[in-house]
Amino acid sequence: MNYFEYKNDQLHAEDVPLADLAQRFGTPFYVYSARTLRRHFRVFDDALQGTDHLICYAMKALSNLSILKLFASMGAGFDIVSVGELMRCLRIGADPRKIVFSGVGKTDEEIAAALEAGILMINVESRPELHHISTVAGRMKRRAPVSLRVNPDLDPGTHPHISTGHRDSKFGVPLSQVDEYYAEAKGLANLDLVGLSTHIGSQITDVAPFAEAGEKVAAIVKRLRTAAIALKYLDLGGGLGIPYAETPPPPAEYAAALLKPLRELSLKLITEPGRVMAGNAGVLVTRVLYLKETDVKRFIVIDGAMNDLIRPVLYEAYHNILPVDRRKLGQTVTADVVGPVCESGDFFARDRELNQPREGELLAVMSAGAYGMVMASNYNSRPRVPEILVDGAEAYLIRERDTFDDIIRGEHIVELKGGS
Ligand SMILES: *Cc1c(COP(=O)(O)O)cnc(C)c1O
Repeated sequence: MNYFEYKNDQLHAEDVPLADLAQRFGTPFYVYSARTLRRHFRVFDDALQGTDHLICYAMKALSNLSILKLFASMGAGFDIVSVGELMRCLRIGADPRKIVFSGVGKTDEEIAAALEAGILMINVESRPELHHISTVAGRMKRRAPVSLRVNPDLDPGTHPHISTGHRDSKFGVPLSQVDEYYAEAKGLANLDLVGLSTHIGSQITDVAPFAEAGEKVAAIVKRLRTAAIALKYLDLGGGLGIPYAETPPPPAEYAAALLKPLRELSLKLITEPGRVMAGNAGVLVTRVLYLKETDVKRFIVIDGAMNDLIRPVLYEAYHNILPVDRRKLGQTVTADVVGPVCESGDFFARDRELNQPREGELLAVMSAGAYGMVMASNYNSRPRVPEILVDGAEAYLIRERDTFDDIIRGEHIVELKGGS
């Protein structure tokens, strides 16, 4: 459910026509719907009612400061994966006691920054990381709240690049060694063992893997209690999918599956949803540059490119592509929708059936809110595009389009001694 809808055959973000935004800000651009973001948070939060819980929005999905502020104002905490993300949280005045820190490769500097800020817990992914945290905490004369991220060894049935819960993946502590790890962590100075966490993957469209993960971690929590390790938090990660082409379960069904094995444990439940919060709350609006036909194919060349949205080539992701104005639709054709970048991977859709647009027409790449702008780059020296947040009839520019100076910031032209 989202608030990108046609009114009089013109696609709107809430009450604002996308064509008006294109005129005001130029193309391409990302636009997010505040009403949709709020709704997603509320539906997810409602699904967990009756359970002591904290939603830590996985901000790597979409981390613009205004978006973070919106979620923080609704009571969200944050799941971060770098010191940069921590600084974003601090910049918007987020409560550090609602921040969890995930990731397999935290540096000592990042660990120190997290302890300095006083975050809720660090989700630890390896034995050496445990030791580093203990050492850094000791140096700072602080105690470090930690949680071990367990790899539950299951197949969440999603794209391999976003599947993290299988034993072959780099994530988490092997299921078979969790007890050893806790015993070892218990023996280390300066650590408070406060939680257990897991995160099995992303764009998961079936509740079964969540239920399985829940059961596996519940069993660990019970075993640890017999070893006098009493945890406070159970962090079940994110991963719930959104409808791109497939149909994921609604949050209520997801929550029911997740909660079933956990009810008797009476721990505080933490979840880290990212995509399900932001995915359908954003679209990428682009303009058609050229229509091109070869002997074998038809191409629609647009001004957006893989540097703006890399999901199609990175994950073979499907994004619906809609005409912004459908008052005068062209005939249905089968075409590739491609960008200007010099890579065959620069496409938004292949062999897609859509209405043939005219040159200069606007197209909306739907469900682009999550893992879109955050992965944008300046490849081909293209400016990263603006981000706009719509709330009712108001549109706010929440990130400016890069200027050429932004693109070359930090570069130096050196005079080489070797001459030419
Ligand atoms: C990426 C990530 C998430 C969010 O995943 P979504 O599929 O966007 O919900 C949550 N937790 C961790 C540890 C992650 O790496």
